[in-house]
Amino acid sequence: MEDTVRDTVILGSGCAGLTAAIYTGRSNLKPLVLEGHEPGGQLSITTLVENFPGWPEGIQGPELIENMKKQAIRFGAEFRMGHLQSVDLSQRPFAMNLGEETVLTRTLIIASGASARWLGLPSEEELIGHGVSSCATCDGFFFSGKVVAVIGGGDSAMEEALFLTRFATKVYILHRSSRFRASHIMLQRARAHQKIEFITDVTVEEVLGVEQREVTGIRLRNRITGEESTLPVNGMFLGIGHEPNAKMFAGQIDLDEDGYVKTTNFVFTRVPGVFACGDVQDRRYRQAITAAGSGCAAALEAEKFLEEEGR
Ligand code: NAP
Repeated sequence: MEDTVRDTVILGSGCAGLTAAIYTGRSNLKPLVLEGHEPGGQLSITTLVENFPGWPEGIQGPELIENMKKQAIRFGAEFRMGHLQSVDLSQRPFAMNLGEETVLTRTLIIASGASARWLGLPSEEELIGHGVSSCATCDGFFFSGKVVAVIGGGDSAMEEALFLTRFATKVYILHRSSRFRASHIMLQRARAHQKIEFITDVTVEEVLGVEQREVTGIRLRNRITGEESTLPVNGMFLGIGHEPNAKMFAGQIDLDEDGYVKTTNFVFTRVPGVFACGDVQDRRYRQAITAAGSGCAAALEAEKFLEEEGR
């Protein structure tokens, strides 16, 4: 039985998980990385990443992820596709039920990320990376001199819209009601901005431009009058929130009111030996580099934990 117990299992293969894999691999912990339904995480669905240090010309998100994966494999990380059915953190080794098998591990690094919420329209899906984006910080730059729309009425939407005014000539905020979840200050800032125009009580029916492979407009429906209209835009940004992928841990570690893993000292959960890093515990920065940083911290803490508790 001893031989089958892993030193560390990393749940998630985005930027945080892969960085944790590089560090734990290099410490000879032979990490097992479990890849879920979005292997590579959010970077794998972005295009050019221009703000990751060390790439003066930028690097494509999928290429960056692939490089990190190769680097982790070079240090002995093992990768497996697996959907976590349930987990038992009540005793060590922790038991991770993958359906066909149960993996036992002395430490667990949760790096399962957060998934951007999408509207769920087929045309939206077709145009992701071709004018449809869920990350203004990542993709805003490509919309210099263009007209864009941001969907949502919370702080994320306001923040994205304000950020996009640096590049776009005009930014529409399209919201499905006239009541906003955004904080007063963010809403005021957006309302005061000359480049931003609000259109409320509308739902997005279709993103136009599938045939051209680039966004050309949005078909909208007014929820009060039922009237349909077309808004010509070059880009559509989703600002309707993120869902942390942590539901399977509810009741075993602390989650906040929106489901993010609560951590202390960056990466510690309330269960000794279980660490969390990246977007599953970060609702504030959500950047590749901050995810990588916390992945490194989680790996170093896992290593220290094993040294102190015995492997
Ligand atoms: P949020 O507050 O939950 O707002 C989501 C918005 O998206 C709501 O206006 C919601 O509309 C809309 N929405 C959700 N699903 C939709 C759908 N399927 N179609 C159309 N619209 C949809 O999420 P968030 O803005 O990401 O903020 C999350 C948390 O992070 C908040 O606590 C926020 O304060 C915080 N945050 C803070 C900052 C900051 O302070 N700088 C920045 C970003 C986020 P309804 O209102 O109609 O449901």
